Amino acid sequence: MERITTPNRAALELASVARDASTCTACGLSATRTQTVPGEGSPTAALVFVGEAPGAREDQAGRPFVGASGRLLDDLLASIGLRREEVFILNTVKCRPPGNRNPQRMETAACAPLLSRQLQALQPRVIATLGRHALAVFAPTAKIAEVHGRPYAQTVTDQRGSAVLFPLYHPAAALHSGNLRPILERDMAALRAYLNANAREGAGEATLREVDSVPTRPRSSTQGEAE
Ligand code: URA
Repeated sequence: MERITTPNRAALELASVARDASTCTACGLSATRTQTVPGEGSPTAALVFVGEAPGAREDQAGRPFVGASGRLLDDLLASIGLRREEVFILNTVKCRPPGNRNPQRMETAACAPLLSRQLQALQPRVIATLGRHALAVFAPTAKIAEVHGRPYAQTVTDQRGSAVLFPLYHPAAALHSGNLRPILERDMAALRAYLNANAREGAGEATLREVDSVPTRPRSSTQGEAE
């Protein structure tokens, strides 16, 4: 499907979502936030990462993934030839859950309209979810251990478009559990391979440009359900 979003319109809507988030009181997280973390990146990004929730550093900075997991995310992006300015990085909820607990279902539900508006504005081709809570927002019954590192499903962004869901482990999980890190690195390489295989000529989108040097992961027998 053609992406019919325009950079200006997308940027305006993204700014409007950020403004609405900053005054939002739809759930209890508004009472404890320092500031909202609406997300950041390129309004023309064809690849969007959706994390779980801002942590303490993000709550202070008003920007997503600026702590230790953000540094790992930057490294992982660099490993596939991308910078964060070329993609868009969002979270399922725009406010920090106290004590960095996981967002609760009613909180992700309360924030869902903002996330939907962002995805409608961006019209991404690929939504890479980071961690099981982000995955659950798009695919409630999917198990991350079974579906990570490959295109899993098509998800609808609005009546005009749909995106491929590409589940990944959360960078924080890879920081806490050393054996997940090589898996996450391999999954990022698989994401790059997927982007390369699905780049459209003339699309003019940096996020989908070909990168020669990125290793690809062998296809598994279950790969390609969404293609
Ligand atoms: N973890 C997330 O899921 N999102 C952030 O923005 C930071 C850490």
